Amino acid sequence: MVRENEIRDAESAVALPSGYDAEIYFIGRIRTPWDSRLLTPRQGRADGPVCHIEIFEPWVAALEDVAQFARLEVLYWLHLSRRDLVRQSPANDGAARGTFSLRSPVRPNPIGTQIVELVSIEGNMLSVRGMDCLDGTPLIDIKPDRTLFSPIAPPQPGDFQTS
Ligand code: SAM
Repeated sequence: MVRENEIRDAESAVALPSGYDAEIYFIGRIRTPWDSRLLTPRQGRADGPVCHIEIFEPWVAALEDVAQFARLEVLYWLHLSRRDLVRQSPANDGAARGTFSLRSPVRPNPIGTQIVELVSIEGNMLSVRGMDCLDGTPLIDIKPDRTLFSPIAPPQPGDFQTS
């Protein structure tokens, strides 16, 4: 079962810290066909429906050169998630697992990541396949899929360090 915001048997919540350690900018908004967590895919699929990622100003210029990558890594803020669970019961069967052993949207910093297939870019709008978030989910970042990307900056000593 997908949760809304309830705590299930065997789950543990903690008191959240009183302040934050960082600030982020929402750089855009993800448009998908899903308006309920109960309908949204648990993980996106490469043959899923085309979804749209709208980039806000002043970040649109940062889309330059993105079109050369067939796949992108998208990071987004799962804004409706609770953030205080350290043990969760994904199957709601009385058994719990540590939050960091799961890809649940419920986590201290509810960041979702997904590799998507790039369909097109027109102006400030990307069309992609593979998303798994609610319509209107805030966008944090876009990067080339690391398997397609070679660093352009010169190598550094750490690049050659082993063991
Ligand atoms: N692919 C990402 C990952 O692995 O980091 C996210 C996976 S998470 C399991 C996907 C689920 O999060 C969806 O099935 C939906 O139930 C929930 N979800 C999607 N968008 C959300 C949002 N904006 N706020 C809270 N929950 C959301």
